[in-house]
Amino acid sequence: MKNAPDQKLDPRRFILKFLKIYEEHITDKLKTVIHGYMSEVLHSIFFLGNIHKKKIMPTDFFAEKDLLKLNNKFSKPFNEFCTHLPTRTPFSILLDAVVKIKGSQNETQVMEYLSTLLKELSVPKPTKMTYSNYYTLEATVICICHYETTGGKTMNKFYGASLSCKGLREQQVIISLSCRHTWTLKVAYAVALAGQGGAIQLPQTVKCKAFKRIGGKDHYCEKPPCTNCINIFKGVTFEPCHSEADEEPKWPYGNCAETESLSKLLHADSALCEQVQVLKNNMTADLDLERRTVWSHATSRLVELLSRTDYVRNGNDIQFFVP
Ligand SMILES: [Zn+2]
Repeated sequence: MKNAPDQKLDPRRFILKFLKIYEEHITDKLKTVIHGYMSEVLHSIFFLGNIHKKKIMPTDFFAEKDLLKLNNKFSKPFNEFCTHLPTRTPFSILLDAVVKIKGSQNETQVMEYLSTLLKELSVPKPTKMTYSNYYTLEATVICICHYETTGGKTMNKFYGASLSCKGLREQQVIISLSCRHTWTLKVAYAVALAGQGGAIQLPQTVKCKAFKRIGGKDHYCEKPPCTNCINIFKGVTFEPCHSEADEEPKWPYGNCAETESLSKLLHADSALCEQVQVLKNNMTADLDLERRTVWSHATSRLVELLSRTDYVRNGNDIQFFVP
Protein backbone atom coordinates (compact mmCIF):
# COMPACT_ATOMS: atom_id res chain seq x y z
CA MET A 1 0.00 0.00 0.00
CA LYS A 2 1.24 3.48 -0.81
CA ASN A 3 1.77 6.03 1.91
CA ALA A 4 -0.53 8.99 2.34
CA PRO A 5 0.40 11.85 -0.05
CA ASP A 6 1.28 14.31 2.74
CA GLN A 7 3.97 11.93 4.00
CA LYS A 8 5.90 12.33 0.77
CA LEU A 9 5.86 16.06 0.77
CA ASP A 10 9.06 16.80 2.56
CA PRO A 11 11.59 14.60 0.68
CA ARG A 12 9.94 15.51 -2.62
CA ARG A 13 10.27 19.23 -1.95
CA PHE A 14 13.84 18.69 -0.86
CA ILE A 15 14.69 16.98 -4.16
CA LEU A 16 12.94 19.70 -6.19
CA LYS A 17 14.78 22.43 -4.29
CA PHE A 18 18.10 20.73 -4.87
CA LEU A 19 17.26 20.28 -8.52
CA LYS A 20 16.71 24.04 -8.72
CA ILE A 21 20.13 24.70 -7.16
CA TYR A 22 21.62 22.21 -9.64
CA GLU A 23 19.99 23.98 -12.57
CA GLU A 24 21.23 27.37 -11.35
CA HIS A 25 24.81 26.10 -11.51
CA ILE A 26 24.62 23.98 -14.62
CA THR A 27 26.74 26.41 -16.62
CA ASP A 28 29.31 27.55 -14.07
CA LYS A 29 32.49 26.09 -12.58
CA LEU A 30 30.54 24.20 -9.90
CA LYS A 31 28.70 22.15 -12.53
CA THR A 32 30.49 18.84 -11.95
CA VAL A 33 30.53 19.04 -8.19
CA ILE A 34 26.83 20.01 -8.00
CA HIS A 35 25.97 17.14 -10.35
CA GLY A 36 27.70 14.79 -7.88
CA TYR A 37 25.81 16.32 -4.95
CA MET A 38 22.47 15.97 -6.76
CA SER A 39 23.16 12.32 -7.48
CA GLU A 40 24.18 11.77 -3.85
CA VAL A 41 21.07 13.55 -2.53
CA LEU A 42 18.79 11.34 -4.63
CA HIS A 43 20.59 8.21 -3.49
CA SER A 44 20.54 9.19 0.19
CA ILE A 45 16.82 10.07 0.11
CA PHE A 46 15.89 6.88 -1.76
CA PHE A 47 18.00 4.85 0.69
CA LEU A 48 16.28 6.39 3.74
CA GLY A 49 12.90 5.72 2.10
CA ASN A 50 13.88 2.13 1.40
CA ILE A 51 14.89 1.37 5.01
CA HIS A 52 11.96 3.30 6.50
CA LYS A 53 9.58 1.11 8.45
CA LYS A 54 6.88 2.00 5.93
CA LYS A 55 8.99 1.62 2.81
CA ILE A 56 8.88 4.69 0.51
CA MET A 57 10.00 4.08 -3.07
CA PRO A 58 11.08 6.69 -5.68
CA THR A 59 7.75 6.07 -7.42
CA ASP A 60 6.04 7.40 -4.29
CA PHE A 61 7.82 10.74 -4.65
CA PHE A 62 7.25 11.52 -8.33
CA ALA A 63 4.98 10.87 -11.27
CA GLU A 64 6.37 8.40 -13.81
CA LYS A 65 7.33 10.96 -16.46
CA ASP A 66 9.21 13.11 -13.93
CA LEU A 67 10.97 10.04 -12.61
CA LEU A 68 12.04 9.07 -16.11
CA LYS A 69 13.52 12.52 -16.66
CA LEU A 70 15.43 12.28 -13.38
CA ASN A 71 16.55 8.75 -14.16
CA ASN A 72 17.92 9.86 -17.53
CA LYS A 73 20.14 12.47 -15.91
CA PHE A 74 20.99 10.63 -12.69
CA SER A 75 20.70 6.90 -13.26
CA LYS A 76 23.23 5.75 -10.66
CA PRO A 77 21.15 6.55 -7.53
CA PHE A 78 18.18 4.71 -9.07
CA ASN A 79 20.32 1.65 -9.77
CA GLU A 80 22.10 1.56 -6.44
CA PHE A 81 19.78 2.77 -3.67
CA CYS A 82 18.85 -0.81 -2.70
CA THR A 83 22.42 -2.15 -2.74
CA HIS A 84 24.82 0.65 -1.76
CA LEU A 85 24.93 2.65 1.46
CA PRO A 86 25.07 6.46 1.45
CA THR A 87 27.96 8.09 3.29
CA ARG A 88 25.89 10.89 4.85
CA THR A 89 22.40 12.37 5.17
CA PRO A 90 20.72 14.50 2.47
CA PHE A 91 20.97 17.56 4.68
CA SER A 92 24.75 17.15 5.09
CA ILE A 93 25.04 17.10 1.31
CA LEU A 94 22.90 20.24 1.03
CA LEU A 95 25.07 21.94 3.65
CA ASP A 96 28.23 21.07 1.67
CA ALA A 97 26.67 22.44 -1.51
CA VAL A 98 25.70 25.70 0.21
CA VAL A 99 29.22 26.08 1.64
CA LYS A 100 30.70 25.47 -1.83
CA ILE A 101 28.38 28.06 -3.38
CA LYS A 102 28.80 30.76 -0.71
CA GLY A 103 32.40 30.06 0.36
CA SER A 104 33.38 28.52 3.69
CA GLN A 105 34.65 31.80 5.19
CA ASN A 106 31.36 33.61 4.52
CA GLU A 107 29.60 32.26 7.57
CA THR A 108 26.78 34.82 7.60
CA GLN A 109 25.97 34.24 3.94
CA VAL A 110 25.99 30.45 4.42
CA MET A 111 23.61 30.68 7.38
CA GLU A 112 21.31 33.17 5.64
CA TYR A 113 21.13 31.09 2.48
CA LEU A 114 20.35 27.99 4.55
CA SER A 115 17.61 29.80 6.47
CA THR A 116 16.03 30.96 3.22
CA LEU A 117 16.15 27.46 1.75
CA LEU A 118 14.60 25.93 4.84
CA LYS A 119 11.88 28.56 4.91
CA GLU A 120 10.98 27.62 1.34
CA LEU A 121 11.10 23.94 2.24
CA SER A 122 9.15 24.14 5.45
CA VAL A 123 5.91 22.27 5.79
CA PRO A 124 3.16 22.92 8.32
CA LYS A 125 3.80 21.32 11.68
CA PRO A 126 1.98 18.01 11.90
CA THR A 127 -0.74 17.66 14.46
CA LYS A 128 -0.33 13.91 14.86
CA MET A 129 2.85 12.30 16.16
CA THR A 130 2.38 9.53 13.59
CA TYR A 131 3.61 11.89 10.87
CA SER A 132 7.00 10.28 11.05
CA ASN A 133 8.51 11.90 7.98
CA TYR A 134 8.09 15.46 9.07
CA TYR A 135 11.66 16.09 10.16
CA THR A 136 13.13 13.37 8.03
CA LEU A 137 15.43 15.60 6.05
CA GLU A 138 16.02 18.68 8.09
CA ALA A 139 18.99 18.98 10.40
CA THR A 140 18.05 21.27 13.24
CA VAL A 141 21.58 22.03 14.41
CA ILE A 142 24.57 23.30 12.42
CA CYS A 143 28.07 23.44 13.86
CA ILE A 144 30.97 25.52 12.55
CA CYS A 145 34.45 24.79 13.78
CA HIS A 146 37.91 26.09 13.07
CA TYR A 147 41.40 25.96 14.46
CA GLU A 148 43.26 29.06 15.64
CA THR A 149 47.00 29.17 15.12
CA THR A 150 49.36 30.88 17.59
CA GLY A 151 49.53 34.00 15.45
CA GLY A 152 45.76 34.38 15.93
CA LYS A 153 45.25 33.70 12.22
CA THR A 154 41.85 32.17 11.63
CA MET A 155 42.00 29.02 9.56
CA ASN A 156 39.36 27.53 7.31
CA LYS A 157 35.89 26.93 8.70
CA PHE A 158 34.26 23.52 8.63
CA TYR A 159 30.52 22.96 8.75
CA GLY A 160 28.60 20.01 10.09
CA ALA A 161 24.96 19.11 10.56
CA SER A 162 23.16 17.04 13.17
CA LEU A 163 21.67 13.82 11.82
CA SER A 164 18.71 14.65 9.69
CA CYS A 165 16.81 11.43 9.90
CA LYS A 166 13.99 10.56 12.15
CA GLY A 167 13.77 7.14 13.72
CA LEU A 168 16.24 5.41 16.01
CA ARG A 169 17.08 2.71 13.46
CA GLU A 170 17.85 5.27 10.74
CA GLN A 171 20.00 7.29 13.16
CA GLN A 172 21.92 4.20 14.21
CA VAL A 173 22.46 3.16 10.60
CA ILE A 174 23.86 6.59 9.70
CA ILE A 175 26.07 6.75 12.83
CA SER A 176 27.45 3.25 12.20
CA LEU A 177 28.14 3.79 8.50
CA SER A 178 29.78 7.14 9.34
CA CYS A 179 32.02 5.44 11.91
CA ARG A 180 33.00 2.79 9.40
CA HIS A 181 33.41 5.00 6.35
CA THR A 182 32.81 8.75 6.60
CA TRP A 183 34.27 10.20 9.78
CA THR A 184 37.96 10.50 10.35
CA LEU A 185 39.26 7.61 12.50
CA LYS A 186 39.82 9.58 15.71
CA VAL A 187 36.29 11.01 15.63
CA ALA A 188 34.85 7.59 14.70
CA TYR A 189 36.75 6.08 17.64
CA ALA A 190 35.31 8.64 20.11
CA VAL A 191 31.76 7.97 18.89
CA ALA A 192 31.95 4.20 18.43
CA LEU A 193 33.65 3.54 21.77
CA ALA A 194 32.02 6.31 23.82
CA GLY A 195 30.15 3.70 25.83
CA GLN A 196 33.44 2.02 26.81
CA GLY A 197 35.17 5.20 27.98
CA GLY A 198 36.46 6.22 24.53
CA ALA A 199 37.15 9.95 23.97
CA ILE A 200 39.61 12.26 22.23
CA GLN A 201 41.54 15.22 23.61
CA LEU A 202 41.83 18.17 21.23
CA PRO A 203 43.81 21.42 21.60
CA GLN A 204 41.86 24.35 23.11
CA THR A 205 42.57 26.28 19.93
CA VAL A 206 39.87 24.16 18.27
CA LYS A 207 36.72 26.26 18.44
CA CYS A 208 33.18 25.02 17.90
CA LYS A 209 30.04 27.13 17.54
CA ALA A 210 26.66 25.46 17.15
CA PHE A 211 23.40 26.97 15.99
CA LYS A 212 19.93 25.56 16.42
CA ARG A 213 17.12 26.41 14.07
CA ILE A 214 14.14 27.62 16.01
CA GLY A 215 11.01 26.12 14.50
CA GLY A 216 8.65 28.70 13.07
CA LYS A 217 11.14 31.57 13.41
CA ASP A 218 13.23 30.74 10.35
CA HIS A 219 16.53 31.66 11.90
CA TYR A 220 19.36 30.09 13.84
CA CYS A 221 20.25 30.75 17.49
CA GLU A 222 23.49 29.86 19.27
CA LYS A 223 23.41 26.57 21.10
CA PRO A 224 25.72 25.18 23.81
CA PRO A 225 27.09 21.63 23.37
CA CYS A 226 25.42 18.65 25.05
CA THR A 227 27.08 16.44 27.68
CA ASN A 228 27.75 13.75 25.05
CA CYS A 229 29.96 16.14 23.08
CA ILE A 230 31.68 17.46 26.22
CA ASN A 231 32.46 13.86 27.21
CA ILE A 232 33.91 12.64 23.94
CA PHE A 233 35.45 15.79 22.43
CA LYS A 234 37.59 16.96 25.34
CA GLY A 235 39.51 20.21 25.29
CA VAL A 236 37.50 21.90 22.52
CA THR A 237 36.51 25.51 23.16
CA PHE A 238 32.75 25.54 22.71
CA GLU A 239 30.90 28.82 22.18
CA PRO A 240 28.61 29.26 24.01
CA CYS A 241 30.03 26.95 26.65
CA HIS A 242 28.17 24.09 28.29
CA SER A 243 26.26 24.80 31.46
CA GLU A 244 24.86 22.36 34.01
CA ALA A 245 21.39 23.63 33.24
CA ASP A 246 21.51 22.47 29.62
CA GLU A 247 19.13 19.67 28.70
CA GLU A 248 20.40 16.11 28.99
CA PRO A 249 20.95 14.47 25.59
CA LYS A 250 18.23 12.04 24.55
CA TRP A 251 20.13 11.22 21.39
CA PRO A 252 22.97 8.75 20.74
CA TYR A 253 26.67 9.70 20.60
CA GLY A 254 27.52 10.96 17.13
CA ASN A 255 24.11 12.47 16.46
CA CYS A 256 25.30 16.04 17.02
CA ALA A 257 26.52 18.53 14.41
CA GLU A 258 29.84 18.84 16.26
CA THR A 259 30.80 15.34 15.08
CA GLU A 260 30.67 16.08 11.36
CA SER A 261 32.37 19.49 11.59
CA LEU A 262 35.21 18.22 13.81
CA SER A 263 35.71 15.23 11.54
CA LYS A 264 36.03 17.53 8.50
CA LEU A 265 38.48 19.79 10.37
CA LEU A 266 40.73 16.88 11.43
CA HIS A 267 40.52 15.33 7.97
CA ALA A 268 41.69 18.58 6.35
CA ASP A 269 44.46 19.36 8.84
CA SER A 270 46.77 16.41 9.37
CA ALA A 271 49.16 18.37 11.61
CA LEU A 272 46.27 19.20 13.93
CA CYS A 273 44.99 15.62 13.77
CA GLU A 274 48.44 14.43 14.95
CA GLN A 275 48.03 16.51 18.12
CA VAL A 276 44.72 14.86 19.01
CA GLN A 277 45.13 12.32 21.80
CA VAL A 278 43.13 9.13 21.90
CA LEU A 279 41.83 8.29 25.38
CA LYS A 280 40.22 5.33 27.08
CA ASN A 281 38.87 6.00 30.57
CA ASN A 282 41.07 9.12 30.64
CA MET A 283 44.25 7.13 29.90
CA THR A 284 46.13 7.32 26.59
CA ALA A 285 45.02 4.56 24.22
CA ASP A 286 46.72 3.10 21.16
CA LEU A 287 44.78 4.06 18.05
CA ASP A 288 46.41 1.31 15.96
CA LEU A 289 44.99 -1.24 18.36
CA GLU A 290 41.60 0.46 18.42
CA ARG A 291 41.30 0.84 14.64
CA ARG A 292 40.15 -2.75 14.23
CA THR A 293 37.68 -2.42 17.15
CA VAL A 294 36.07 0.69 15.60
CA TRP A 295 35.75 -1.07 12.24
CA SER A 296 34.32 -4.30 13.61
CA HIS A 297 32.03 -2.50 16.05
CA ALA A 298 30.55 -0.37 13.22
CA THR A 299 30.36 -3.28 10.79
CA SER A 300 28.60 -5.67 13.15
CA ARG A 301 26.10 -2.94 14.05
CA LEU A 302 25.38 -2.36 10.33
CA VAL A 303 25.04 -6.08 9.65
CA GLU A 304 22.59 -6.35 12.54
CA LEU A 305 20.56 -3.27 11.55
CA LEU A 306 20.44 -4.14 7.85
CA SER A 307 20.10 -7.90 8.04
CA ARG A 308 17.96 -9.45 5.32
CA THR A 309 18.64 -6.54 2.93
CA ASP A 310 20.85 -6.35 -0.17
CA TYR A 311 23.14 -3.86 1.56
CA VAL A 312 25.00 -6.68 3.32
CA ARG A 313 26.51 -9.53 1.30
CA ASN A 314 28.60 -12.54 2.29
CA GLY A 315 28.29 -11.81 5.98
CA ASN A 316 29.91 -8.38 6.21
CA ASP A 317 30.58 -7.12 2.69
CA ILE A 318 29.21 -3.56 2.44
CA GLN A 319 29.43 -1.18 -0.51
CA PHE A 320 29.18 2.60 -0.44
CA PHE A 321 27.63 4.85 -3.05
CA VAL A 322 30.09 6.91 -5.10
CA PRO A 323 28.34 9.66 -7.10
ZN1 LIG B 1 26.21 17.03 21.37
